[in-house]
Amino acid sequence: MRLRNITGSRELIADSPFVAHHPEEQKGQWCQLFQNSNPVYLEIGMGKGQFLMECARQNPDINYLGIEKYSSVLLRAVEKQQEEQLPNLYFIRFDAEYITGIFEKGEISRIYLNFSDPWPKDRHAKRRLTSRQFLERYDAILAKDGQVEFKTDNRALFEFSLNEVQESAWILCEHTFDLHHDTSMNAGNIMTEYEERFSSMGNPIHKMIIKRPCKEA
Ligand code: SAM
Repeated sequence: MRLRNITGSRELIADSPFVAHHPEEQKGQWCQLFQNSNPVYLEIGMGKGQFLMECARQNPDINYLGIEKYSSVLLRAVEKQQEEQLPNLYFIRFDAEYITGIFEKGEISRIYLNFSDPWPKDRHAKRRLTSRQFLERYDAILAKDGQVEFKTDNRALFEFSLNEVQESAWILCEHTFDLHHDTSMNAGNIMTEYEERFSSMGNPIHKMIIKRPCKEA
């Protein structure tokens, strides 16, 4: 979802109190930003923020962070948050490839990946947010019982992801190829912008919940 460069988007983001401007400096100290010790949930590739804003509204005792690579996309989320001012939601304009530079081991309790870019060419596989390279990064920042939740309508990406989970020895807790017809996994589901768009076209939504491999006591 790359929008055209929108004039002023960088400036608006630079001035917003809801954006963490120097995320490297917050490493290990994100609870100070939220001024509490509630668990921190992260969405990587949050787009315009529809999913995260609803999560933050429904769960005031959870802190939410959204990472988005492009200012032109993040702008929409920042504008909405400036109107609503949810105290448990901040954004980071950042490339998730470098995520271990901004979070300490165990600092994140859950990661959401929603409708991540598919990067269909084989030579770009390591850029997929569910590749083994990214799973290793998530392993380095998640809490002991931390989870990753991934939704997509892209069957090839989903099957690739199931395979990466197996190859990396992550634990597959639950999965479905048709979330909206799976009563148990769909309970409490919050739709993302892309989920609304693709499911209205009749595409089944796939979802997996995975846990990091247990390497330590
Ligand atoms: N999650 C939203 C949804 O479900 O409606 C948006 C999905 S959109 C297809 C994927 C988003 O991920 C885009 O906004 C893109 O810029 C962002 N993205 C892709 N790779 C990223 C990365 N390495 N770091 C941060 N954001 C990324």
